Amino acid sequence: MNISAQEYRTSFLLRTLPAECKAVSCSMPRHANPKHTAAMTTLAGFIAGMPKAELHLHIEGTLEPELMIEIGRRNGLELPWPDAESARRAYNFRDLQSFLDIYYRATSVLVHEEDFYDLTAAYLRKAASQNVRHAEIFFDPQSHTARGIAFETVIRGIEGALQDARRSLNLSTKLIMCILRHLSEREGLEMFRQALPWRRWITGIGLDSAERDNPPSRFRNLFELAHREGFLLVAHAGEEGGAPSVREALDTLQISRIDHGVHCMEDDGLVAELVRRQIPLTVCPLSNVRLRVFPSMREHNLKRMLQRGLCVTLNSDDPAYFGGYVNENYTEAAEALGLLPGDLVQLARNSFTASSLGTLQKQLYLNELRRYDIETPLQPSENRTR
Ligand SMILES: [Zn+2]
Repeated sequence: MNISAQEYRTSFLLRTLPAECKAVSCSMPRHANPKHTAAMTTLAGFIAGMPKAELHLHIEGTLEPELMIEIGRRNGLELPWPDAESARRAYNFRDLQSFLDIYYRATSVLVHEEDFYDLTAAYLRKAASQNVRHAEIFFDPQSHTARGIAFETVIRGIEGALQDARRSLNLSTKLIMCILRHLSEREGLEMFRQALPWRRWITGIGLDSAERDNPPSRFRNLFELAHREGFLLVAHAGEEGGAPSVREALDTLQISRIDHGVHCMEDDGLVAELVRRQIPLTVCPLSNVRLRVFPSMREHNLKRMLQRGLCVTLNSDDPAYFGGYVNENYTEAAEALGLLPGDLVQLARNSFTASSLGTLQKQLYLNELRRYDIETPLQPSENRTR
C-alpha cells in the first residue's frame, strides 16, 4: 500500500501511544477523557495526569539503550555494548564527567536524518504519554558536527519530528541549541554562525556539558551576540559548580533561566535576588541523585528551594540515563520529600510561566492546569493542601 511520507511519520509517532490516548481523539487533551481522570486518585496518578511543561531535556539524553542498539545496527556501527541490557548496566556514574563519557559514545550512533527523527519522535511519544503539554528541547550539534555529521542533517531530523508531533500529539515545542562549554568559545561561535540560517527553528541558545573549569564568562562574547540576535538565553550553572557559578552566569551571559542552579542555596543574597527577579531554575532531581550532586533524594534541597519562593520547575535532563522521565522526577521527589499536591501544582504552574511561550498560550495551559487541579479527586488518604 502506498502511503505518503507524512502518513508514515504520523503512524510512527502514534504506534506506541498508550491505548487510552489512541482511543480518544489525539487532538483533544488526554485528561479531558473521563476514563483517564477516573483513576487519578493516588498522588502518582495525580502527577501522571497533570498538565505540565518540560524545560530541561537534552534530546540526545533520551536515547534509550534499545533504540541506540537498533540505530547502531542499522548504521553498521560497532558499540562497546552487545545489547541494551549491558549498556544499561554501564549507566553507573561517579559524577558528571563519567556520565558524559558514556553519553558521547552512545550519541555516536546518530548519523542520518532519520536517526535524529526517530530519537526525537520516541521522546515526544513518551512526553505526550506523561501529559507534557509543552517541551523546550536542547540539542548539542557540536557533538555531531565534530563527527562529520552536517548540522542540516541534525536539525532537519529533529525539527521533522517536532512538526509532526505538534500536529499529531497535541503538544507544543521549542528548540534550544546548546553550546558545549568544554570546547572553546571560538568553536561555539563557529557553531552559532553555522546555525543562523536555521534560526526560524531555533528559539534559544544554551550552555551545557562539564561545568568544572569551564566558567560561564568564557562564553560572554557568544552570548552577547546571541542576545543581539534576539534568542532566548539559558545556561547550566550551579550543578557541579557552586553559587558563584550561578552568579557569574547571571551577571555575564544575560540569561533569563538557569538550568539546575541547586547550589544557589549556598548564598542567601543570590537566593534573594533570584526570588525578587523570579528567575526560573530548571531542577532535575533524578539527575542530581544519579550524578551525586546529592547523596539521596531525601537530601535534595528542592523543597527548601520552593519554601524560599524560588521559581523552581521539575525536569528530566537525560532521562534514558537517569532512571526516569518527568513524571518519575515528580513522583520520586514527592515521595522522598513529602511534597503536597499544592507543591506539585505550583511546580507545574512554574513550568508554564517559566517557558518561552507567549502570554496567551501560557494562559491557556495555566487554565488547563487550574481546571485539572479543581476537578481531579484524590483519595482521602492523600493529604491535599491547595
Ligand atoms: Zn542538563
